Amino acid sequence: MAQRAPESMSISMPGGAAIDAELRPDDPGEMVELTMIEPVRRRVFECCPICGDPATSEEHVPPKRIGGKKLTLTCEPCNNRLGSYVEPDLIDWVEGAISRPLLRSDAVQGPRKEKRLLVRNTPAGEFILLVDGHAHPDLAAILASGEIDLDAVLPNWGRCKLALLKHAYLAACLTYGVLEGEVADEIRRDLVSARDAKSRQDVPMSRQAMGLTVCRTYEPTTDEPAIRAVLHEPAGAVEGVLLVGRIFVSWSSTVSEELPQVDRRVSRTLQVGPPIPGTVMSVRP
Ligand SMILES: [Zn+2]
Repeated sequence: MAQRAPESMSISMPGGAAIDAELRPDDPGEMVELTMIEPVRRRVFECCPICGDPATSEEHVPPKRIGGKKLTLTCEPCNNRLGSYVEPDLIDWVEGAISRPLLRSDAVQGPRKEKRLLVRNTPAGEFILLVDGHAHPDLAAILASGEIDLDAVLPNWGRCKLALLKHAYLAACLTYGVLEGEVADEIRRDLVSARDAKSRQDVPMSRQAMGLTVCRTYEPTTDEPAIRAVLHEPAGAVEGVLLVGRIFVSWSSTVSEELPQVDRRVSRTLQVGPPIPGTVMSVRP
């Protein structure tokens, strides 16, 4: 997962037509106003701000893959083990990707697993699926059959929000010093429980994480990895951090006792026409 998935791509088609595939939401959502205050600066503590063990490991805030920088030190398990459990879902969400989808058609026996599909949209609102990396050798035969069953699980929203909790919490510690109080204790407990889970599937969900306010823009406004910012909501101003110019995460949580369903499975049958050769004209990372 070293290289970031391309965000947009222009493909020229025979007859002069072009397809513009972009990372954009199906639904543009509401406009919200955000004020950027100041960049979050590098700050190092003796102890890991998450668990209190010696801080020995360079931590990117947010993850490097989505544009984070080395802004602090945590301990090895809080950096790498916790990261490997919760950050793949955040990366898939940010990159508009579906990991390990299953494709099935009458042309081949049994399902085939692709590594990753990128979901992109055209300005007209049509969706485009791009294979990230090498396509399965049977994909051409599957596509040629005219009808494909696609089965996939979208990024797990509970783990994605735990990753956002981790990086918003670290950004808050870099701004104000290691946070104190009951809420901070609950956040640290939740992050350590996620870190110490037996596997990614066993990561317990967190009320603090699920209660975060998260907003996203598809037009990044800055290259700074983390900026203290205020979101102006109808109910009042919410303080938090803007990560890589595109994801706002609140520093407060609207905690509810009920944890929503976080696994979102998609099952679709896709009709496929005959292949048309196109040429990729440009790619934006
Ligand atoms: Zn730690």
